[in-house]
Amino acid sequence: MSSQFANDCGTGTAKDAIDYSQNWSKNIQFHADTVLFPTSVEEVIQIVQNPQYTSIKAFGTRHCFNDIADTAIPQKEKESTLSSVAKKSVHIGMDKMTQIHIILPPSSDDHDDTHPNQKALVQFQAGVTFTQLMAAVEEAGFALFNMPSLPHISVVGGILTGTHGSGIGHGILATKVFEVQVVHANGTVATYDNNTPLLHLGAWGVVVSATMELEPSYHVAKGIYLDLPYSVFLQHIDELLGPSSIQAMGEFTSVFMDWKEPCMSSIWVGKKYDPSTTTLLNRPKLPETLFGGAARQVTPGTQFHPVPGQDPVACIATGYGSWTTKVNHFLPNHPPSSAGNEIQAEFFVPYRHFQAALQALWDHRHVFAHLVQITELRAMAQDNLPLSQAKHETVVGIHFTLFKVNANVLNPILAQVEAILMPFEYKVHWGKWFVARGKQLQQLYDQEDVEELRRLIQLHDPQGRFSNRYIQTCLLEDEGPSRSSRL
Ligand SMILES: Cc1cc2nc3c(=O)[nH]c(=O)nc-3n(C[C@H](O)[C@H](O)[C@H](O)COP(=O)(O)OP(=O)(O)OC[C@H]3O[C@@H](n4cnc5c(N)ncnc54)[C@H](O)[C@@H]3O)c2cc1C
Repeated sequence: MSSQFANDCGTGTAKDAIDYSQNWSKNIQFHADTVLFPTSVEEVIQIVQNPQYTSIKAFGTRHCFNDIADTAIPQKEKESTLSSVAKKSVHIGMDKMTQIHIILPPSSDDHDDTHPNQKALVQFQAGVTFTQLMAAVEEAGFALFNMPSLPHISVVGGILTGTHGSGIGHGILATKVFEVQVVHANGTVATYDNNTPLLHLGAWGVVVSATMELEPSYHVAKGIYLDLPYSVFLQHIDELLGPSSIQAMGEFTSVFMDWKEPCMSSIWVGKKYDPSTTTLLNRPKLPETLFGGAARQVTPGTQFHPVPGQDPVACIATGYGSWTTKVNHFLPNHPPSSAGNEIQAEFFVPYRHFQAALQALWDHRHVFAHLVQITELRAMAQDNLPLSQAKHETVVGIHFTLFKVNANVLNPILAQVEAILMPFEYKVHWGKWFVARGKQLQQLYDQEDVEELRRLIQLHDPQGRFSNRYIQTCLLEDEGPSRSSRL
């Protein structure tokens, strides 16, 4: 493979050099023959129109834990459809496409019919990370409605896998997409609105830019509470993750547990407020304890890491401040989470099943607890997006940061976890590790959404140049072959 090396977010030191031949956590080896970094839409079109590239995959910041971003497709498919040209696979890195443009809403006395939306919008190229977007949006006086736990990832890469933040009042990131611009396999450029199946859009095009809705800048009162007994958590699920949580705890709530003790190791709450109308006296209060002393707050201003043993310097500080410093868990200039010494998996269950699903996992924790570094529980609002984990129903994500073990060890254990969650109508995080494939996976989603994705792939990419093993085995084939070990 001819690969190029660059520096993440321009930090510029040798230790930050990126190896584009694998994903961030280094559990997936990529198969691209070459990696190219276009600087414009025209250069993306040139790459896509080059007939020697029979397998093409764009990537963002390679933070997925499975082979979704790999170029590899089953060999027999390549040979049968494209035997007359030299076959080469190309990875398209979006790192050099980082332009950001704020579109202000029309003022009330402006009768601007050309403005696409009454809200402020941000249009950005596909290489833009949350770190870059946060800075530009905040400088213009606006904010994103929510953030994933880390700002290091590309926003487009996050949108395409159903990435989400915390809080039952918030949909997944894709719910705030206004439109996307896509280069199809024949080199045509099309603009799609948010009625488009955004999740897995990379399977039928290269996204070159996206536009998202903004809201006025806000501040957050952030508190972290430690050691809530499991039995007390069960009594207060509604106030921590459910419909009452916004009023009781604030807009951004995460609950962490490690399955070792009957205890939620930390509860992260975040209350929004408007700094322009808030004084020291009337800003949201962060009580010293929760539920009559059942959990105590860490000292305001403290950095606390949710994963036991990891350095808190990588995390935001509690207390009061701008949304840019309080909504995500991890700071931009430090490796997030367990610094890549991990595999992540996340399963979503409808809120109405959450307590029963958690209890079923608790009862079977001997199956998986030894692999867990930390679990995070977050609710998200229902949406109407095809293949979204929250389509039709508000869900709770049960996330696992796992120790990095071989797939031969991990797969049988996660197969048991997925079997435990099956009666609770679970769905998967498309960017994390899961074992269900073929019909077994597709039946978790609306059949019409799977068929619509297949139709769009057939329409826009009839030769399957954007497809790969993951797309084939998860969504195109009914039979899911057992996974090959790549860890
Ligand atoms: C430490 C850590 C914390 C995380 N926290 C969260 C969290 O809080 N919430 C959550 O939901 N997830 C979380 N994730 C998962 C992460 O958000 C997703 O895996 C996300 O998709 C990663 O974005 P990326 O840009 O790195 O994607 P990549 O892995 O680069 O790409 C993802 C997919 O999008 C495609 N793609 C990317 N860019 C384009 C493009 N321009 N055109 C076409 N296709 C494209 C790729 O081919 C691939 O299929 C976390 C991951 C890590 C490593």
